[in-house]
Amino acid sequence: MTSKIKLVFLGTSAQIPTARRNHPATLLTYEGENILVDCGEGTQRQFRKARLNPCKVTRILITHRHGDHVFGLPGLISTFDVSGYNKILYIYGPKGIKRFLESFLGLDYVKRSFEIKIEEVSGRFFEADDFYLEAEKMEHGIPTNAYAFVKKGQRRIDREKLKKSKLPSGPLLKKLKEGKDIVYEGKKYLAKNLTYSEGDKKISFMLDTLVNKNIVPFVKNSDLLICESSFLADSENGEKLAKEHMHLTAKQAGEIAKKSKSKKLILTHISQRYDKDIKNLLAEAKKVFKNSSVAEDFDSVGV
Ligand SMILES: [Zn+2]
Ligand SMILES: [Zn+2]
Repeated sequence: MTSKIKLVFLGTSAQIPTARRNHPATLLTYEGENILVDCGEGTQRQFRKARLNPCKVTRILITHRHGDHVFGLPGLISTFDVSGYNKILYIYGPKGIKRFLESFLGLDYVKRSFEIKIEEVSGRFFEADDFYLEAEKMEHGIPTNAYAFVKKGQRRIDREKLKKSKLPSGPLLKKLKEGKDIVYEGKKYLAKNLTYSEGDKKISFMLDTLVNKNIVPFVKNSDLLICESSFLADSENGEKLAKEHMHLTAKQAGEIAKKSKSKKLILTHISQRYDKDIKNLLAEAKKVFKNSSVAEDFDSVGV
């Protein structure tokens, strides 16, 4: 069985939260990792409402230091502190995030029961056996990162073919999975005939940004592209306002998904203007990229 990557949208609003949408936060769960992307105000309550334990968070990826993306951090960290959080908390962000968070979280003078490590990242910044994390610079007036989680493709045994081969289970199969040919009872079995390669799985997080040259190469071939969509191009001054505020329109999000050959687009960072009436946003994205949807708080999706 393939391990699933699960995403839960804990907050899907833009700058101002609404009754329906909390400030931005998305949780990605894979094996023992619980990676939180952004942590807007009230994120820890959103965990509770979603019946998830916030103390399971292993890493926090901050896109940029605007309040809607970070105001939930002090509260969340304070909860970790009184709940016996007993691992190192890794927080990653763009250039300048270390100094900002040290002051914002009072790291110099507040003693905590666990260690917080803050890293300013770009490129591939974390690698485990079966996945890695990447960051790329965006354009939003202040240092801003987009992120990607990539689960590495693995060689898997073709169970049907294995059955026919009558090979016994055990260490021989491990060798096949490593791509090595084996010999059993004098007969040679080629790894390429009994295994198949499972492709990478990529989830990209494209929060606040202007359209820029880094986007499409960075999110290329995403299985899931989570993209901000603060404005509607087809509205009065929509494109102009998006540019002025350094954000994307739903149309641009659709274009990014199409150009990057992504498989699925989910729009988030929804302005209060479109809070209840998302049909125009969705229609605009869908016009360019069919497999689009708009995230609601507490939506969850598997990849
Ligand atoms: Zn924002
Ligand atoms: Zn912002």
